[in-house]
Amino acid sequence: MRAEIIAVGTELLLGQTVNTNATYLSQGLAELGIDVYFQTVVGDNAARIRQAIELARTRADLIMFTGGLGPTLDDLTKDALAEYLNRPIHIHEPSMVKIEALFSSRGIHMVESNRRQANMIEGCDPLDNNAGLAVGNALTIDGTHYLLLPGPPREMKPMFDGPAKAWLREILGEERKLYSRLLKFAGIGESSLEQAIIDLIEQQSDPTIAPYAKEGEVALRISTKAISEQEAVVRLDQAEAQIIERVGKHLYAREDIPLEEAVIRLLRGSGRKLASAESLTGGLFAELVTNIPGSSGEFVGGVVTYTNLMKHKLLGIPMAQLEGPGAPGAVSESTASLMAERVRELTGSDYGVSMTGVAGPSESEGKPVGLVYFAISELGKPTIVHTAQMSGSRGIIRVRVAKAVLYRLWQ
Ligand code: ATP
Ligand code: MG
Repeated sequence: MRAEIIAVGTELLLGQTVNTNATYLSQGLAELGIDVYFQTVVGDNAARIRQAIELARTRADLIMFTGGLGPTLDDLTKDALAEYLNRPIHIHEPSMVKIEALFSSRGIHMVESNRRQANMIEGCDPLDNNAGLAVGNALTIDGTHYLLLPGPPREMKPMFDGPAKAWLREILGEERKLYSRLLKFAGIGESSLEQAIIDLIEQQSDPTIAPYAKEGEVALRISTKAISEQEAVVRLDQAEAQIIERVGKHLYAREDIPLEEAVIRLLRGSGRKLASAESLTGGLFAELVTNIPGSSGEFVGGVVTYTNLMKHKLLGIPMAQLEGPGAPGAVSESTASLMAERVRELTGSDYGVSMTGVAGPSESEGKPVGLVYFAISELGKPTIVHTAQMSGSRGIIRVRVAKAVLYRLWQ
């Protein structure tokens, strides 16, 4: 919480009074763990007090006033704040009773203006003054806390140390906590995702939406500051609904799990088995999937057929398909298709996937770096082959291919 202290009093500006209240309040606030960012001094002038409030509103969550709560016409703090907040002023009855009792016990006539010391801004909590007559005010409006304390140190100190600190402790107790939710996306790049929701990101204040990317997946973190979890859930749900409207088909998890885990969970749910035949990824796909504990229930295994000979020997792909004049080659739609089908058949799985392509750094079979084919063969269905021209380093291309296969499986 950031605080600003506004000491009100022309005598302070004239140098007639040392602003010891600011020192005292700063020390006390520091003890409560509240950071004081600014100390302001302003004279007994309604327009300038208002200016000080306007400025403080932009840079503080807690604005503490001292001074100007007394009976005379130059005591303007409550009026200035009430006017700024557009709130009426009421009389605090117990304070009024106290003021009247004091005057009558002393047998002196009470000047009407003394009633001003019982003034309260509508909606505020009264802070008892056990050393004087002016009642203190404490209120929270639109997330800003206002505390009004008297100027005389012998009144200000006990009010601050007693009721004001108690009030602040309560506020701090219900300080908003940060709640957040992670949305994970696949099959969409970080910049496309950001572009799709750029207006939501730009108009945000709370909840906030922050994108970030890692290894072929992108995520959005939605965060909100709320008093309770229920309040947070409502706000997070609202923000999430807006995001889903735009890019929902790419959302694979509402928690921080990798795409391979979402795929394994899906397979587990449907009782299906998966096998892989990899070329350019060199086993990375199997590595990702087997990183998930318990994945042996869904992933039966895979082969790394890096050379043409291995594609032929292990998967039975005809050499004429792989090399020689007029052959489609290892990096081709038909080879990808055959690899996926053969590994599915060999392992008796429901799904066979394959990855073949040019990871770089130099071209192969006259095909450019980044050209990849990957296929998904599902039992009883025609094999689907995807092709992509990927960019990035050798390592990045390999991760992207493996993640692309996972994304198609998840779909
Ligand atoms: P009062 O009922 O006495 O008018 P008030 O709340 O209106 O109280 P002020 O009129 O601003 O307060 O100040 C009253 C006296 O309190 C000042 O003359 C000064 O002696 C002292 N005082 C006010 N502000 C400060 C301050 N920031 N630091 C130290 N003393 C202060
Ligand atoms: Mg005064």
